[in-house]
Amino acid sequence: MWEGVTVQRVSYDAEVYRLSTSEQELEADQVIVVTGSYHIPKRHLLAHQLPASILQLDARDYRSPASLPAGPVLVVGSGQSGCQVAEDLFLNLDQADAVYCRIRSNIDAWIPCWEPSPGEDTGLDLSKHPLAAVIRCMGYSSDFRWINAPVFDGSGLPAHHRGVTRTPGLNFIGLPWLHTWGSGRLFGVATDACYLAELIARRGEQDSS
Ligand SMILES: Cc1cc2nc3c(=O)[nH]c(=O)nc-3n(C[C@H](O)[C@H](O)[C@H](O)COP(=O)(O)OP(=O)(O)OC[C@H]3O[C@@H](n4cnc5c(N)ncnc54)[C@H](O)[C@@H]3O)c2cc1C
Repeated sequence: MWEGVTVQRVSYDAEVYRLSTSEQELEADQVIVVTGSYHIPKRHLLAHQLPASILQLDARDYRSPASLPAGPVLVVGSGQSGCQVAEDLFLNLDQADAVYCRIRSNIDAWIPCWEPSPGEDTGLDLSKHPLAAVIRCMGYSSDFRWINAPVFDGSGLPAHHRGVTRTPGLNFIGLPWLHTWGSGRLFGVATDACYLAELIARRGEQDSS
């Protein structure tokens, strides 16, 4: 196992995977891609128009309320991360996963949600409502352009069944909905990992017999 090594390129050539890394060239019979799927943070188009005095963070860079400048904070996006960040700012909790599970079924009762009245101007006037920070929780897109194998669909995502692609020996894990909702979550990946580990071991045995 090597740490701190980036795989810059994977290509499939004559039934062998050739890997270019930040350290050396490698060859492998099987490759399991476990690089997660939250690579490129989505950002709102107006982000660059906000004054430089407002701190802008992506969800993955948020640590705690104490790490933000004093003043109002705008959380953009109300998915899992947005709700956890809002909850953390509101109650200053550090048990984000536990909080998420608890509030999942009853989120509106927990966090004071603002809804515009019909016809209300929904623009944000920063001269009336100055912000100290904006936390962008708008999701992430995947970036697998460093893998050169015929397994990707038109949107750049791997086509697979439970992580197994049609290219022999190339497998993915940790993708959202790889098999179930939990596949892209910390507490759901174990089932997928066991399934894949068995297939890989079986393939290794077949190759060596
Ligand atoms: C903002 C955010 C909030 C989240 N909140 C939650 C949550 O509250 N609960 C929950 O269950 N899940 C949450 N998730 C999802 C959770 O982080 C992932 O499901 C989990 O981290 C996946 O684990 P993984 O090991 O597959 O990938 P990761 O944890 O993403 O690890 C991938 C590793 O691969 C490395 N890597 C990437 N590319 C390369 C390369 N080319 N060469 C070498 N190494 C590489 C990275 O440096 C990293 O170390 C969140 C994700 C994000 C982005």
